[in-house]
Amino acid sequence: MADRKLSKSEVKKLRDKLESKRKPVWQSIKASERKAALRWCQEYREFISTVKTEREAVDFIRKEAIKRGFREAASLQNSAKAPGIFWTFRGKLAALAVPGSGNPGDIRLIASHIDAPRLDLKIYPLYEELGMAFFKTHYYGGIKKFHWVAMPLAMHGVVLTGSGRKVEISIGEKPDDPVFMINDLLPHLSRKVQGSKKVGEAVPAEKLNLLVGGLPVNGPEDTKDAVKLNILRILDRRYGITEEDFISAELEIVPAGPARDAGLDGAFVCGYGQDDRSCAFASMQALFGLESPASTCVALFLDKEEIGSDGNTGAKSRFIEQIYLDLFRLAGTDADPGALLNAMTSTRAISADVTAAVDPDYQEVHDRRNNALAGHGICLKKYTGHGGKYAANDASAEYVSLIRRAWDAAGVRWQAGSMGKVDEGGGGTVAKYLAALGMDIVDAGPPLLSMHAPYEIAHKADLYMSYRAYQAFYSTDL
Ligand code: MN
Ligand code: MN
Repeated sequence: MADRKLSKSEVKKLRDKLESKRKPVWQSIKASERKAALRWCQEYREFISTVKTEREAVDFIRKEAIKRGFREAASLQNSAKAPGIFWTFRGKLAALAVPGSGNPGDIRLIASHIDAPRLDLKIYPLYEELGMAFFKTHYYGGIKKFHWVAMPLAMHGVVLTGSGRKVEISIGEKPDDPVFMINDLLPHLSRKVQGSKKVGEAVPAEKLNLLVGGLPVNGPEDTKDAVKLNILRILDRRYGITEEDFISAELEIVPAGPARDAGLDGAFVCGYGQDDRSCAFASMQALFGLESPASTCVALFLDKEEIGSDGNTGAKSRFIEQIYLDLFRLAGTDADPGALLNAMTSTRAISADVTAAVDPDYQEVHDRRNNALAGHGICLKKYTGHGGKYAANDASAEYVSLIRRAWDAAGVRWQAGSMGKVDEGGGGTVAKYLAALGMDIVDAGPPLLSMHAPYEIAHKADLYMSYRAYQAFYSTDL
């Protein structure tokens, strides 16, 4: 039987009822919420301006937790005595929890990562060449090496001296601080050595050397490596460290200076490390806003995601089990192996991580129908991984259904998407490592432009909606 011909208004009704719509957030929210979003993003901008390493993120989270009366798990006998609990582990992993009113095994968890792509100093970094001193580096995570030349860089980190004293270093952020540069070749002479090469090979890793000095030590003219010696002398005078101490150091080279608003209308935040400290900040703020939730809410801030989540501060670390054990202990309940396992397998979790926004200039690598659009809200990613869903966490339809209902009920503006065309590339998150513990987990975070570049771009609507989405996840009945 042929259908009756529909009128214009009937077609519109049908469309409204059946078609999926992705709307830009900004025009679909109230003026008061736009205002709240801008205020929130200002605080966020300050956060990513000051927090540039995983260690600095842990320090920040600890201080904010203490300010709110949270107590360190190890120092606490019973969680009823504090509004919240915090953990830090080896200075590079942190967790926060607000105990729920129900069973201690009823847990909601949001995991983000606080490490970001950067350059690390090598074990023996310092050398002199042609009257200039340099630090050799080894890149950390997925960078495009040509991004890191000819731009002001800062150095953040720690050095442990021969006697075990810890020295904290941060150079390049204050207006009067010197910065560090990796020199690039002038275009006049780079035709062959760079211009004729593939872009990924034009700047080799071994040429990512940081200019750190050009003044010789005040000694006899024939003093060998006099500039290098002068740098060592400055380091000794300022920090009491020697060349050997670089062996027991973690010094990270990151873009210098604060994050900024981007665009004439200030629609975007431009800053370093938004993958994934945007999600770390949003989940931290969501957790701090909780008042007596039903489920125990946990925010986990992981290190080492950018290099595969290995190591004792990454998502594969057993520290996550320690947190669960503590939660049981602090609730005054016996954590027998069965109860612990049950708490893990029944945990509802979000892997809070960014995704790629469709880049208008490179639409050929994206699937426009299935990839995230900037300004269209937090992006829910059912699965990650690459070609053929290899190495993916693929959340169940049932779990995705819970999340979308929670967000819709709370008025969160969100979109669903995956990253890039199917065989174009891809990437993973911590989701699959937490899924291995049996949790229900799905990825969700703001889409970024220029992801993994020294300055990444995020739309303010998406940053704010990520915060709102994490808030709803913690406090809505699932
Ligand atoms: Mn990430
Ligand atoms: Mn990343």
